[in-house]
Amino acid sequence: MTRYTDSVCKLCRNEGEKLFLKGSRCYTTKCAIDRRRYGSGQHGQDRKKQTEFALQLREKQKVRRSYGVLEKQFSGYMEEASRQKKVPTGLRLLQLLESRLDNIVHRSGMVPSRAQARQLILHGHFTVNGKKVNVASYRLRPGDIVSVSEGSTKLVKAVIEANPVAGQPRWLNADLESLKASIINLPEREDLDQSIKEALIVEYYSR
Ligand code: SF4
Repeated sequence: MTRYTDSVCKLCRNEGEKLFLKGSRCYTTKCAIDRRRYGSGQHGQDRKKQTEFALQLREKQKVRRSYGVLEKQFSGYMEEASRQKKVPTGLRLLQLLESRLDNIVHRSGMVPSRAQARQLILHGHFTVNGKKVNVASYRLRPGDIVSVSEGSTKLVKAVIEANPVAGQPRWLNADLESLKASIINLPEREDLDQSIKEALIVEYYSR
């Protein structure tokens, strides 16, 4: 499977904003975007007026990279979101991304970034409803219980201790003592990042 292997800070610099891909480092003065607020590479400092298409593309790339999802999988989520008629497509897309196992492990405060969550999941450190799951994209439904695998408690507790979290989202039930997390209900739009312009992503895929 194709994986992005270059510096992830370049992704933030190219989007012109923090995507929080490096866990606790993103909150320190070492953050690359705080030090160099322009795109990477030779033409990174050139300023051009963006076309409508460029704005749509950038928003899509920003969200896709921030959740660490590959292109094909992202367009699959988009297709699924557009089939759901009861919830606006943009919100449904974000709900699908938020329901991924790697995201829930990260949001619960057990791991400081989605990338690190993916790595630990891949190595079998988490279970869902008591069964080991090593697929980062595994979709959780309200009520499913994520816990730490037997034998991995010490490791995950050490990660939590090294990266204390400020709080957890209200749509999530997370207990860092027992190392368990579950979705209470899917997030509403006001629960999610207000800087995301999901309408631009929907427009990008409706071209
Ligand atoms: Fe992005 Fe984090 Fe790197 Fe800052 S430290 S540029 S927020 S990945």
